[in-house]
Amino acid sequence: MSTLRFKAIYETFNRKPVTVNEPPRRSEIFGTNVFNETAMRQYLTKDSFKSVMDAIVNGSKIDRTVADHVSTGMKEWAISKGATHYTHWFQPLTGATAEKHDAFFETIDGGMAIEKFGGGQLVQQEPDASSFPNGGIRNTFEARGYTAWDPTSPAFIYGTTLCIPTVFVAYTGEALDNKTPLLRSLQVVDQAATAVAKYFDKNVTKVVATLGWEQEYFLIDRSLAASRPDISLAGRTLLGHASAKGQQLDDHYFGSIPTRVLNYMRDLETECMLLGIPVKTRHNEVAPNQFELAPIFEEANLAVDHNSLLMDVMTKVADRHNFKVLFHEKPFAGINGSGKHNNWSLATSTGTNLLSPGSTPMKNLQFLTFFINTIKAVNEYEELLRASIASASNDHRLGANEAPPAIISVFIGSQLTEVLDELEKVTDGKLSPQEKTDLKLNVVGKIPEILLDNTDRNRTSPFAFTGNKFEFRAAGSSANCANPMTVLNAIVAKQLIDFKAEVDVLIDQQKMKKDDAIFNVLREYIKQSKRIRFEGDGYGEAWEKEAKKRGLSNHKTTPEALKAKHSKKSIALYEELGILNKVEIEARHEIEVEEYAKRIQIEGRVLGDIARNHVIPTAIRYQNILIENVRGLKEIYGAGFKKVASEQMQLIEEISEHILKINASITAMIEERKKANKIDNMEKRAFAYCEKVKPYFDEIRYHCDKLELLVDDELWPLTKYRELLFTR
Ligand code: ADP
Ligand code: MG
Repeated sequence: MSTLRFKAIYETFNRKPVTVNEPPRRSEIFGTNVFNETAMRQYLTKDSFKSVMDAIVNGSKIDRTVADHVSTGMKEWAISKGATHYTHWFQPLTGATAEKHDAFFETIDGGMAIEKFGGGQLVQQEPDASSFPNGGIRNTFEARGYTAWDPTSPAFIYGTTLCIPTVFVAYTGEALDNKTPLLRSLQVVDQAATAVAKYFDKNVTKVVATLGWEQEYFLIDRSLAASRPDISLAGRTLLGHASAKGQQLDDHYFGSIPTRVLNYMRDLETECMLLGIPVKTRHNEVAPNQFELAPIFEEANLAVDHNSLLMDVMTKVADRHNFKVLFHEKPFAGINGSGKHNNWSLATSTGTNLLSPGSTPMKNLQFLTFFINTIKAVNEYEELLRASIASASNDHRLGANEAPPAIISVFIGSQLTEVLDELEKVTDGKLSPQEKTDLKLNVVGKIPEILLDNTDRNRTSPFAFTGNKFEFRAAGSSANCANPMTVLNAIVAKQLIDFKAEVDVLIDQQKMKKDDAIFNVLREYIKQSKRIRFEGDGYGEAWEKEAKKRGLSNHKTTPEALKAKHSKKSIALYEELGILNKVEIEARHEIEVEEYAKRIQIEGRVLGDIARNHVIPTAIRYQNILIENVRGLKEIYGAGFKKVASEQMQLIEEISEHILKINASITAMIEERKKANKIDNMEKRAFAYCEKVKPYFDEIRYHCDKLELLVDDELWPLTKYRELLFTR
């Protein structure tokens, strides 16, 4: 056994759980390190407090004097908590978070120093942004972008640094991050949904999108992870034969959480509490060493920030516990991968969840309005929604019969299906009093106030209605939720705007009553968006065929899926809503296809290196042992040696065959990489990596994994699946 493999396993066995002090009561520490309302009341003047709250609730601008007051209060608060530095915290298009720390420190005349943090520093910063992806919007020599304070997501202290959530924009105005389009989408969905909600309740002044994510992840011992170059460099195993026992016994899901892991979770949850991330649920997932963490839902912008922050915190806390967190969507072949379900809904300023049925027919008509409009939006923009969750790593998961297929469809359950079937029959034009009564009593009135327990749980659906929210299940575990959330908000906003226009026409021109008009428009929507509704098994081949007939897209790879991101239709949508302009969209597309190509390139290199530097030399060493053995047998048995050495000779041959095939594939793969690298057009390059380079991975892996089975375990250098998954 290689020293590295041996040491890793040895260390893992000898790990003691890191002791974690019994965490204080959650309610006592929740939000301690957040500059939240309580902290603001304490550290800000009444007027400044009011301005910030106004900015949060109504999006009003904060003027410079107020910013100075706020920064001073924020600094005092942060220093009282031991902070020494501050940073603008943002989410560039790498998908991760970025920060650059500056000390609260300035020298003044007379060699003295003071702690300083002015309004200017709070509101705007200029990080040297040249190294962040910009898709050609800025050339490196004019690397000027700035970060600007987002008051709707409160500042927090992480370690000894005050972190101020910000947007990141080019000087020429283009968004360079994930937050900017998200904020714009939240604004448009607010406007559009408020206008529609007013049909039902005049008092609604604002609608926010809500998000509750569920984060899945793998925890692997740090030494074991470090012993695998593929996990270290690509975040997943690129080879490795399946372990004799995998997840077939279903003995991990919801099982008792191992002590080492539980201590990690406790520590993590304490950190989350301090940071105001309202984590609530934790459990084992389906695969061995796979777990899940879910919070109480929040306003979407905050929830997105919290998820990004959480992923960072998880990685850091894991270090303390000698774990490595894997967010990759498919770290192990043949074992379930990780996703990040995005539970989404709309909530009004009056405290109503617009996707929650109510106790009165009117409330239920409101529910149906938002429910049906969302379905229609998904129907119209299924391709864009699919594109929003596309990544090289998520490709492994979508369509792999464990996560939803790459085909977007909506599951609503049998009860609501019946309701929609009834509504489809509503009279064209004005409704008779009798029909209205019938609708009230038998259709709308039949929707129970609480659907939660009644909705069937179709786990194969990518977009399922789960009682009072939609659950977008196709998002990848490593994704930034801003992407799918931006698309969802945008398409629903667009849909609600169109809906309101249609209803108003019926009211104004056809003199229909409001609810008659609403029923009429909804009826048409139900008819128009039928193809997107699917209640069956999303994993089956039958669905692929059926979906094709229905004209639904089925983009299995990222370059293919990403096309929809810069289609005419998407550009028109984003420009109409003012979320992104054509330049920004093209730039983002460029960044994403480039990232895809790079990821496949890295994987190809790593796989080639491992196969040539680890696998083949080991196989040759073992083959030499066999050859030595055969020679010995020949010496003893003379001409009759073949009888006793047949197995060994067979092995020698098999090993050679595998080595030959591996070498041939690697050589061919490298040739394809060279060709791909010469392609200037990034989208074409991504396709080349996808279609020409990636197919070699399976071939190379297949033969390496065969060798793993043949070669003496003592010699095998790479930590095996059984060790990665079952040692802790
Ligand atoms: P599951 O059964 O899929 O594991 P749960 O019912 O426990 O899920 O809820 C999953 C997530 O949905 C949680 O994060 C929860 O906070 C979130 N959620 C509940 N209601 C809403 C809502 N109205 N808007 C957004 N998310 C919500
Ligand atoms: Mg879920």
